[in-house]
Amino acid sequence: MDNGRLCLLFGADEAELRQLCQKVGLPAYKGGILFKWLQAGEADYNQMTNLSKAERDLLAARYPLALPAVRQEQQSADGSTAKLLLDFGGGVMVELVLMLYQRSHSRSRHTLCISTQAGCAMGCAFCATGLSGLLRNLSAGEIVAQVLCGQLWLRRHNLGPVTNLVLMGMGEPFANYEQVCQALRVLNATAGQNIGQRRITVSTCGLAPQIRRFADEGWEINLAISLHAPQDELRSRLLPVNRRYPLAELLAACDYYTEKTHRRISYEYALLRGVNDGPEQAAALARLLAGRLAHVNLIPVNFVAETGFWPSSDETLNQFAAALQSQGVETTVREKRGLDIDGACGQLRRRQSES
Ligand code: SAH
Ligand code: SF4
Repeated sequence: MDNGRLCLLFGADEAELRQLCQKVGLPAYKGGILFKWLQAGEADYNQMTNLSKAERDLLAARYPLALPAVRQEQQSADGSTAKLLLDFGGGVMVELVLMLYQRSHSRSRHTLCISTQAGCAMGCAFCATGLSGLLRNLSAGEIVAQVLCGQLWLRRHNLGPVTNLVLMGMGEPFANYEQVCQALRVLNATAGQNIGQRRITVSTCGLAPQIRRFADEGWEINLAISLHAPQDELRSRLLPVNRRYPLAELLAACDYYTEKTHRRISYEYALLRGVNDGPEQAAALARLLAGRLAHVNLIPVNFVAETGFWPSSDETLNQFAAALQSQGVETTVREKRGLDIDGACGQLRRRQSES
C-alpha cells in the first residue's frame, strides 16, 4: 500500500494544524502543540503527553501518522556522508543523503540532500533518476518527513541539528511546485525546524516560468541551475527541458531571480568526458555568465553505466576550472563525497529496486 497519507500532517503548518484541531473539536491552540511535536519528528501520539489521552486517541483515529521506514543505512568510510534509504510504501523509495561537516561541535554543519519526487520525468541524459521516469510527486509531508528522518538520525548519533538543506535528490522540485513550497514554508518556520532561507538551496534543471514564480515568493532561498552546457544545441541534447526553455529564456528568468532576491545563483556543471568539457565550452560558459551574479559549481560526474557518459579526468576538470577563473567567473570544484557508498543521484534506489 502507498502510505502517502501517513505523512500528511508533517507537511502542515501551524495555522493549518490549528484549523484541523478546531475541525475535530479541539481548542485551536492545541494545533501549536501538535506542530512542535510533529516537527520534532514524533510520530507516536502517545508520546505527546501535553495532549490529553482523549485528544491523542481522537487524533490517532482521524490522522494516522508514520515516518517512512529506514530500509538501509550506509556511512562512508571517512564518516563524512551517510545515506538512508527511506520507504514510503507502494514502491516509493527515496534516498536521503546527509553530509556532515565537522568543525567544533557548535559550528558543525549538517546538510541534508532531499528528494521532491519519486523518479523524475525530465529525462536528462546523464542522470540515474531520469532513467526510470516519474513514479509520482512527493507530498509536502513526505518532503518534510525526510528532514525529520535526518534529524532523528543526527540525534541518535549525538550530532547537532540539521543546518542546511539542498533539494538535489530525486526529482525536479519545480515540477512539484506547490508541495515543495509548502514543505519549505514548514521547514523554515521558527517554531518548527527553523532552517534559514539562506541555508536552503533549490536546484532546478531550468523550468523558467517556475523560476520567475519562485522569485515572486519573496524568499531568500538559494537557487542552483543544472546548466551542464553553455550552448543550446548541446544542452538540448543533454537536458530535453532546454527545448522548451532555451538558454536565453532560462538566463532571463535567472536574472529576474537575482533582481528580486539579490541571491547569487549557482550553476551546476557536471563534466562529461569529450562532451561538454573542452576549452570552447569553458569559453562559451564564461561568456554566458559574464556580468551575472553567478557561481559555477563543477561536478565530477557520477558514472552511471546505462547513460554511456564518462567522467572527465581530474586534469581536464582542473583546466576547465582554471579557464573559467581566468575569465573572472567564480568557480569551485565540488568535492567528491561518500563515493564508497554511491553518493550519487538516484543510484542507491536503483540498486535496491533492481535486486
Ligand atoms: N532535478 C533537479 C534537482 C535534482 S538533480 C536538477 O536537475 O537540478 C541534482 C543535481 O545532480 C543536478 O545538478 C543534476 O544535474 C546532478 N546530476 C544528475 N545526474 C548526475 C550524475 N550522473 N553525476 C553528477 N551529477 C548529476
Ligand atoms: Fe530530473 Fe534533475 Fe535528473 Fe534531470 S538531473 S532527470 S531534472 S533529477
